[in-house]
Amino acid sequence: MAAAPWHLELHILDKSRDFPAAPYCHHFTEGDFSSYEDVINFGKNLDLLTIEIENVNLSALKALKKMGKEIFPDPEFLEMVKDKGKQNNFFRDLQIPTPSFSSFESLAELESSLMRSELELPFVWKSRFEGYDGKGVRLVSKMEDLESLPDSPCLAEELVEIEKELAIIISRNAEGRIAVYDPVEMIFESRANLLDILIYPAKTEEGVSLDMRQTAMKIVSKTDYRGILAIEFFLDKKGRLLANEMAPRPHNSGHHTIECCPCSQYEQLLRAMLSLPPGDCSRIQQGLMFNLLGHPAHSGPAVIRGVDLLHETPNAHLHWYGKKETRPFRKMGHVVIAGRDRNELLEKAEFLKKTIKVTT
Ligand code: ADP
Repeated sequence: MAAAPWHLELHILDKSRDFPAAPYCHHFTEGDFSSYEDVINFGKNLDLLTIEIENVNLSALKALKKMGKEIFPDPEFLEMVKDKGKQNNFFRDLQIPTPSFSSFESLAELESSLMRSELELPFVWKSRFEGYDGKGVRLVSKMEDLESLPDSPCLAEELVEIEKELAIIISRNAEGRIAVYDPVEMIFESRANLLDILIYPAKTEEGVSLDMRQTAMKIVSKTDYRGILAIEFFLDKKGRLLANEMAPRPHNSGHHTIECCPCSQYEQLLRAMLSLPPGDCSRIQQGLMFNLLGHPAHSGPAVIRGVDLLHETPNAHLHWYGKKETRPFRKMGHVVIAGRDRNELLEKAEFLKKTIKVTT
């Protein structure tokens, strides 16, 4: 949608024509983005390529890069981000504070570390690969908790006493020109470990938001990053700012930029890809975003209920992705409410969250 006013010719690869982006691009290719052949066949005739999920076949992206295709983000950066162990090492090498962690090749290796008392309970277990939206994160507070964990490469992380979860979005183009949005604050849905409410801008001390900006600038400058990057942080109860993870693509924590900033995160990505000057990241208005998650008791053809009041609410914006099927906690869309007063936004969100349901 951000590309439409510039009339850029877009091609999209996804598994089914029923998927959300299909009606909005010029050329839709049905295929599996985790398949080497499908990604090569899709990308070999295109000029610029980007991703909006990390699980795109990495070998194919590397091969396309060798063919001279421009890829955002660079496949090497994506490879690092895809492994939470490598990602934490990356932060450590740049002297960016993170929760303390140990990395393991298997669950058995983690267990023997526990036996040798090198690791102590409780800790947060994280799958090193393919964990997103809380799917690969578990609190381990007793030995029995290990029984339900998969035997895969993993991390054991210090259980942080979180005061606030924060995120920042930065973009950098080929000439090294950078743009940074104001940090946001994220409140998580504890049952699904999914982002529940996002508040823009984050209410933090000036020093914290400066620290986040400087960290973001350090990361993109040290890596000659090109594209858009979201970085999530924890602010703990002792006031430590700890980097948690990165997403090298447009992100949930930037949805509000469509309504709240002159240049949205999507236009910002296009600008970085096209080597255009960065767009204006300043704040037009405050915002609050909440995800529309599938009702925990419903699976099947999706129906959104209770949207009349949302449409009645001034400056409330529905983004319904049009996914055909709902599942418990599946991300089906989001709502942005914009305005001038944080408390008013929170009140409106509390009310609308109760009235809108995604069921069958
Ligand atoms: P995902 O890749 O699934 O988004 P995250 O690493 O962001 O996984 O973890 C999901 C959520 O789990 C975080 O937003 C936070 O609420 C909680 N969490 C993750 N790591 C820790 C930690 N070390 N200590 C405390 N809570 C954590």
